[in-house]
Amino acid sequence: MELPFSESFKIKMVEPIRKSTRAEREQWIKDAKYNLFNLKSEQVFIDLLTDSGTGAMSDRQWSAMMVGDESYAGASSYYNLKNAIKRILGFDHFLPTHQGRAAENVLFSAMIKEGDYIPGNSHFDTTKGHIEFRKAHAVDLTIDIASDTEAYHPFKGNIDTDKLEAYMAQNASKVPFIIVTVTNNTAGGQPVSMECLRKTREIANKYGKPVVFDSARFAENAYFIKIREKGYESKTIKEIVAEMYSYADAMTMSSKKDAIVNMGGFIAMRSQELWRACSTFNIMFEGYVTYGGMSGRDMNALAVGLDEGTEFEYLETRIKQVEYLGSRLTEFGIPFQTPVGGHAIFVDANKVLPNMPREQFRAQTLAIELYLEAGVRGVEIGAILADRDPETRENRYPKLELLRLAIPRRVYTNNHMEVIAVALKNVFDRRNQITRGFEITWEAPIMRHFTAELERCK
Ligand SMILES: *Cc1c(COP(=O)(O)O)cnc(C)c1O
Repeated sequence: MELPFSESFKIKMVEPIRKSTRAEREQWIKDAKYNLFNLKSEQVFIDLLTDSGTGAMSDRQWSAMMVGDESYAGASSYYNLKNAIKRILGFDHFLPTHQGRAAENVLFSAMIKEGDYIPGNSHFDTTKGHIEFRKAHAVDLTIDIASDTEAYHPFKGNIDTDKLEAYMAQNASKVPFIIVTVTNNTAGGQPVSMECLRKTREIANKYGKPVVFDSARFAENAYFIKIREKGYESKTIKEIVAEMYSYADAMTMSSKKDAIVNMGGFIAMRSQELWRACSTFNIMFEGYVTYGGMSGRDMNALAVGLDEGTEFEYLETRIKQVEYLGSRLTEFGIPFQTPVGGHAIFVDANKVLPNMPREQFRAQTLAIELYLEAGVRGVEIGAILADRDPETRENRYPKLELLRLAIPRRVYTNNHMEVIAVALKNVFDRRNQITRGFEITWEAPIMRHFTAELERCK
């Protein structure tokens, strides 16, 4: 008999989590004004709010922390990280920052000016925020099939390179660089193919523009290339990563994802001139060039995390766990976005609660029901997140209402996945009884989803 698949790690340190009763959860979510961000973590049994900064560090990472060098300038930890970035990603120059959005802030301060256009696949919220803050524009050229939750495409995160070529032919003079997000977080953690990266590079060369990779989940992207793209089956993840970055001039990184640390980020680039331009902003916004927003011990842990995060066995464990949860949901007939991406499952709330008026927030309702059922915390990616139109102040209703279940790295076991799947099945089985959604009683003028207060509709 073939041995079953199993995790590529064993567990040395544990953190207790507590089950609660339905009555307790009823009270807690009411006290939290039906906003899952307001819950205390101890009121949550399985926390799938995000995979960002929530991973478990390894024994090697923890031991690297103990020998962190906290010197203000020229710390050995800085050089450990510099060497890891050079060896794994191929960049000569880098700047540490406290997280991904800080890397965007520094790099974009040097590269973007008012009136610019930045084409790419779907820009992440903070990326778009930093572009628009500079009165420039994000141009989303993701392939059309990405917005169809049921259609299969092995690389649903791709840029449509025909659209990119056409866009550049018209607008190149207003484009400072092209950005590619790997994996495409906004499209559901969907990967970008090597072929797409190569073509993007060719188009950029034709117009003499740099290419920047927003790299939060670059290693998960490399895993999908190995598994799904012809010609890469027998390459190592590190070989694939090296080829990916041969097509980039610079990168921004949120290390809280694929580098498996709880805080941290960086910018890396080929050009010393660009490094010099960014250094000034890094010193102003983050810290001196050899620590940026990070302590020495955190740079040490990050250097190790880059290595571990680009090992096939680790990535296989990670992605198979997300796929396992997906396969259980499929068995139960629960609709979600396919194929499953690298870091999360996106349940299609429009299909679960089709009769609920959209004004009552279908995905939020589903998120609350799942919490009530089993203490599982997901997050709404729907109309509350989409917020109001800045001009008309009308609610915006996006095409999709999704409940995102993001899986932290190396934190939960497949038994936890089983609990999540069955809890969701129980909610799904009684979906016809879920007739009352929620209304907002208070909201902030922007980014309302973090702090909005809600109440169940009468
Ligand atoms: C998380 C993320 C960011 C921002 O990084 P933070 O560390 O949260 O500031 C940028 N881009 C992508 C694709 C991300 O997933």
